[in-house]
Amino acid sequence: MDYETRLQEIRAEIAGACLRVGRDPEDVRIVAVTKYIDTEQTENVVRAGLTDLGENRLQVALPKMEGMAADVQERVRWHYIGNLQTKKVKDVLPRFDWIHSVDRLSLAEEIQKRAAAIGRPIPCLVQVNVSGEESKSGFAPGEVPAFLQAAREMDFVEIRGFMTMAPVSQDPEEARPVFRGLRELRDEMIARGLLPQTSRELSMGMSGDYVVAVEEGATMVRLGSVLVK
Ligand SMILES: *Cc1c(COP(=O)(O)O)cnc(C)c1O
Repeated sequence: MDYETRLQEIRAEIAGACLRVGRDPEDVRIVAVTKYIDTEQTENVVRAGLTDLGENRLQVALPKMEGMAADVQERVRWHYIGNLQTKKVKDVLPRFDWIHSVDRLSLAEEIQKRAAAIGRPIPCLVQVNVSGEESKSGFAPGEVPAFLQAAREMDFVEIRGFMTMAPVSQDPEEARPVFRGLRELRDEMIARGLLPQTSRELSMGMSGDYVVAVEEGATMVRLGSVLVK
């Protein structure tokens, strides 16, 4: 697999989307989701220039973290993007640089406790269930203000913005209202003083819908299959 070529194509798509809406492509970070590939392929992804890597399970990430060449591993920022069980927090925290999936108060409390214990604040995103699907985790938009209020007390949980998952669909346009809803929620929370001006991250968009997500303001797109398959 030629990751350089694929990456060029994806960057061109992102640049096109940015041009259409007047955004700077520099403000969009690609998080390469490496759950489908092995350690060697993951090293090649990093060598192609992608240094933000996402995994949704610790057991799948660990062999890569331990097996990659040191000069490659030291360039990587690891993003935890999946459902996070409370009991796994202590193992995830020391190994990841970001957590995209803070979806309940009890999880934030555990992150606060464990991050304080190792003395390292961790950048986090609040997962919001914008679409309201039963099957999706995340706060309902209406629950977000109270959560942000509570999270202010947690000095080792750095809330940097929001994350959402759009409904699975063949038509990326169906995801647009979900992405727009997340952006509007962020802007409202900043306007109400519940989020700092600088906490603007929007982790949204996957292989099937990332172009629409960028048009709607994504600052991180989580790309798996479009990159590696
Ligand atoms: C697997 C996964 C992705 C990437 O999905 P693709 O459709 O393969 O790009 C993004 N986000 C999360 C949370 C995932 O689990």
